[in-house]
Amino acid sequence: MLSYLDPARPQPWSSFLEQVDRVAPYLGKLGYWLETLKHPKRCLIVDVPIHRDDGSLVHFEGYRVQHNVSRGPGKGGVRFHPDVTLNEVMALSGWMTIKSAALNLPYGGAKGGIRLDPAALSRAELERATRRYTSEIGIILGPGRDIPAPDVGTDEQTMAWMMDTYSINQGGTVTGVVTGKPISLGGSLGRREATGRGVFIAGREAALQQNLELVGARVVVQGFGNVGSVAAQLFAAAGARIVALQDASGSIINPAGIDVNAAISHIATAGGRLIDFPGAEQIDNEAFWDIPCEFLVPAALEGQLDATRAARVQTRIIVEGANGPTLPVADDILAERGITVVPDVLANAGGVTVSYFEWVQDFSSFFWTEAEINARLESIMVAAYKAVAEVAEEHKVSMRTAAFIIACTRVLAARDRRGLYP
Ligand code: GLU
Repeated sequence: MLSYLDPARPQPWSSFLEQVDRVAPYLGKLGYWLETLKHPKRCLIVDVPIHRDDGSLVHFEGYRVQHNVSRGPGKGGVRFHPDVTLNEVMALSGWMTIKSAALNLPYGGAKGGIRLDPAALSRAELERATRRYTSEIGIILGPGRDIPAPDVGTDEQTMAWMMDTYSINQGGTVTGVVTGKPISLGGSLGRREATGRGVFIAGREAALQQNLELVGARVVVQGFGNVGSVAAQLFAAAGARIVALQDASGSIINPAGIDVNAAISHIATAGGRLIDFPGAEQIDNEAFWDIPCEFLVPAALEGQLDATRAARVQTRIIVEGANGPTLPVADDILAERGITVVPDVLANAGGVTVSYFEWVQDFSSFFWTEAEINARLESIMVAAYKAVAEVAEEHKVSMRTAAFIIACTRVLAARDRRGLYP
């Protein structure tokens, strides 16, 4: 896959714009405001200089984009990855606007990132980069303004550093400024697993709708991080067979079913790479897309399903754990082939939903049990799935366009009521 810095690679913001355009015929009078969604409200580019451990100086480029705040504060993760660009962060922030609104969470959409390779930095260097970045974007953050969370390459430790840096600059502890924090700092039970859990719930609902039996269903998962690994565990626990996995180290297959917990333990041991997992065979990364399955779960990065792969995949249901894994051109091919795509803005919304629970718990300083959190996540995800499926049926559109119709209607109705300043 080419880097986004290479102009030959399809740019995520263009995909987002095309997805927005597809909603235009269904918005009625609210269509007047549609351009709003094609212009991020605020893009901040920051320089992130740090001292390396060897005493040298290095500069990274960081971003925070607030795409829309019509329905509430900006919300969305922070990505540390060598391919991060402004264009990518703009698209990711737009998808957060749609995701929050599709689930009816009281948030707008935002996203941030630093173009760096976290694996190439020491823990101390990462801490310095995180703190400097937080301080630089701190002027637009706040529990009522914009609330970051983890994304690719960041985790609860990153959020702890962000919370601490913001709090020190404010002169008092502000737990509600980020979500996805460690439990000891006002984090929520169930947050770490929430995105993968939501992916599983979305897949299970799609199976129910199609009378597809989960027991024995074959599942292929791309990405074995926080999202893919938890989704795989839950599919396996429901009786499905995880037949193939892919991560940055390579692809593995076992038609009899991969022992997901054993694969997770294998990776957790020092130097353990997925590709060396003894309970499966290695296969070519491109052949991975030809494996017959009932569920394909892209849970890595954007742009994985292009026109070529969309024409090849042998699956019934695609559940998007990643943000933006399917290009619009691939969406059309998949629809023609009768393959259901449960879109990112619905399928991976479990994470931001439990982030919302975390933020509410921080405000009230009253914490819920994991059972309460999972039950509330379940009911919000199931209701959102059903609402999207209904709109898709009513207008004979894809579930992605249906989710965009619901979300854009909510965002633009808020925009319309608030009016234009001045
Ligand atoms: N980065 C996650 C996402 O893409 C979580 C965002 C959040 O919890 O705010 O949905």
